[in-house]
Amino acid sequence: MLDKCPICLNSDVQVSRPAGGHLAYDIECKRCGNYRISETAASMYLKNYGPLYLLSAAIRNRFEREGRIELSTRTFETLLDSVSKPSDPIETIDLLLQHIFRKTGKISKSVVFTENDYPLLFAEDVNEFYHYLKLAEKLNLIEPKIIDTSEREYYLTLEGWKRIFELKKNEIKLRQAFVAMWFDSNLDDAWENGFRSALLECGYDQPIRIDLQEHNEKICDKIIAEIRQSGLVVADFTGQRGGVYFEAGFALGLGKPVIWTCRADHIKDLHFDTRQYNHIVWQTSEELKEKLVNRIIATVTNMPLK
Ligand SMILES: [Zn+2]
Repeated sequence: MLDKCPICLNSDVQVSRPAGGHLAYDIECKRCGNYRISETAASMYLKNYGPLYLLSAAIRNRFEREGRIELSTRTFETLLDSVSKPSDPIETIDLLLQHIFRKTGKISKSVVFTENDYPLLFAEDVNEFYHYLKLAEKLNLIEPKIIDTSEREYYLTLEGWKRIFELKKNEIKLRQAFVAMWFDSNLDDAWENGFRSALLECGYDQPIRIDLQEHNEKICDKIIAEIRQSGLVVADFTGQRGGVYFEAGFALGLGKPVIWTCRADHIKDLHFDTRQYNHIVWQTSEELKEKLVNRIIATVTNMPLK
């Protein structure tokens, strides 16, 4: 039996075996959250897979939003493949405020943070996490329940509440996601069970694509308007359509998050200029869905609040 969390190596864990003879462990880790991991995945020498704190952060953030997740060697690699930290301190502090808001929903309620909570903010260790708490306090976004104590229990201030309100206002726009892709019937299943289904699962209740075959001046204006309205653009390069390159470039220019994808049999045709981006390579719509959900959760810090 395991005596520590195979992800963060914390020994403050509850480990049990799932019923039904699964070759897996159910882990309740105070740092990473609750997850089920297959024996094979748990026995892998994780250090080969990059910084573990990012994996711990990806699992914890997903647990906070969706409850326990399941990790096999396969899902595990896609999760590792897709983790990255918020890009700046403002986004990190927004994550903190959103967490307090999700936990309390009330300005008069507070949240206690412990040294096990650093993965919430993709922090490397507890010192980095406490540093963000201090910054948020200095910015008057949170306030401690009791001053002059080592206990870290915080309320959102009225300023913090206003910031949540701003994020929620933007959220209406953010609920739309635009998929730039080849409009071909051989991608209908990928649209329905891959792109659309992954976006719905991540809280984008308006995933859209526009038929590029009807391409004319009007559609082009419509595409530009829809991209402006979207919180996220997914660009799929299967079929190498010129429109997809245009739409991805336009979205990048507006500062929108763009996720790059391509079906495995078309990856060799990718244009030189976009090869530098880390494409999700997929073969089936199920694989596409799984990888896309992981990538969105790990990289899109302004995803819709659930
Ligand atoms: Zn852990």
